[in-house]
Amino acid sequence: MDRKGAPQLHFNGQFYRINGKPNKDGKINWRCVVTNCSGACATYNSNIGQEVLLVSLKDIHNHATSPTKLYNLERRRKIRTKAENSDERPRKIINELDDNYE
Ligand SMILES: [Zn+2]
Repeated sequence: MDRKGAPQLHFNGQFYRINGKPNKDGKINWRCVVTNCSGACATYNSNIGQEVLLVSLKDIHNHATSPTKLYNLERRRKIRTKAENSDERPRKIINELDDNYE
């Protein structure tokens, strides 16, 4: 399977994947990535990296949020932000962040 081609939506520490095709209005339904969880939401945009407006949300989950995954995402975002504002090489920046989190 092509993992790269599957956008994921992140909201409130939960992750959602696209559930089926967009409907006639272009509304996209998302389901929680956890099997058997009924958490769901809908948006009108599925572009990776873009902020989206939730048009409906069922933020009821039968599991905890995923702090590890969230941490990784947040860390990646911080590295990117810092890399944009710095002349330092990315490798150096990553090392610095690792130190900060320990
Ligand atoms: Zn869930």
